[in-house]
Amino acid sequence: MAAVPPRGEGYNMARYTGPACKLCRGLGQKLMLKGERCAGPKCPLEKRHSPLRRQSHGRRRRISERGWELKEKQKARISYGLMERQFKNLFVRAKEMPGITGDNLLILLERRLDNVAYRLGFAASRREARQIVSHGHIAVNGRKLPFPSYMVNEGDTISFQGDKELKAKEVEDRFIPPWLSLDRENLVGGMVRYPEVNEVGATFDTRLIVEYYSK
Ligand code: SF4
Repeated sequence: MAAVPPRGEGYNMARYTGPACKLCRGLGQKLMLKGERCAGPKCPLEKRHSPLRRQSHGRRRRISERGWELKEKQKARISYGLMERQFKNLFVRAKEMPGITGDNLLILLERRLDNVAYRLGFAASRREARQIVSHGHIAVNGRKLPFPSYMVNEGDTISFQGDKELKAKEVEDRFIPPWLSLDRENLVGGMVRYPEVNEVGATFDTRLIVEYYSK
């Protein structure tokens, strides 16, 4: 089964606050939790002789079907920075919606305000995005909204309220997915439409997540 830090270690009431790299090591996959560092040689999983790499990639373990399903669920949950209860609630909501549950789940995850702020380049990682949202640096339709779990709707505008000069430089070359728009000068983004599943670039298998919660 996927090893992630046990409940109680590095957790506070609402989120995991321990070392991010430990989560990637536990799942043996880069979850891109630390922004720029993840893409560079400083990522512990990139270092050829790193003990983290040896532990995560060098070890051959037999994983049960249930273990694979758990692993995919953990990858998704941790990538989007959610606690188990929040993730399960989102799954229940996805199941109640018409259509394919796994696809619905992915779209709900992408619609979270912290994720949209990250996709717009207002933060280097979802972790940082959650922080800037919580600190009131993001406004939705002109009003500050410090709720990372807010579901962004089609037509909503999302604007950055912090140091605009500094942030404008950071978003200059940032790729903006086609379902979002961004006025790079004024740092005002918008949700043009909901994302298509194939536009998300998910690194986990939503079918296995659905299996996990169906048992
Ligand atoms: Fe994961 Fe990023 Fe740490 Fe690499 S640097 S282990 S991708 S959080």
